[in-house]
Amino acid sequence: MDKTTEQRDRATLEAMGRIFCSSRHKDAGKDEAWLCAQCRDTIEFTLERTAACPYGHVGNCQNCDIHCQQGEARERIREIMRFAAPRMTFLHPLMTAEYLRKKIRTRRA
Ligand SMILES: [Zn+2]
Repeated sequence: MDKTTEQRDRATLEAMGRIFCSSRHKDAGKDEAWLCAQCRDTIEFTLERTAACPYGHVGNCQNCDIHCQQGEARERIREIMRFAAPRMTFLHPLMTAEYLRKKIRTRRA
């Protein structure tokens, strides 16, 4: 995975995490990207696993037979995505388009 892709994945996940975190973890302390420690951990873990995934999936291992992302962090990132994805359309239309395009591409592969 090249650096640009990784940076874009990070920006997308952080944007989703912020939507989720600002609603669900209102009272938690936030870092410089407005994420609490738990959401930050979830995103870092997901990026790490994404870099290791041969298909370059972003939190999308339910469509894949390898299941790079396991356990608690996988559940948390899925929860973040379920919560944030419908709201992303309004807040970050370009990022959502990029995410969906990628999802479609990896599905076809
Ligand atoms: Zn949070």
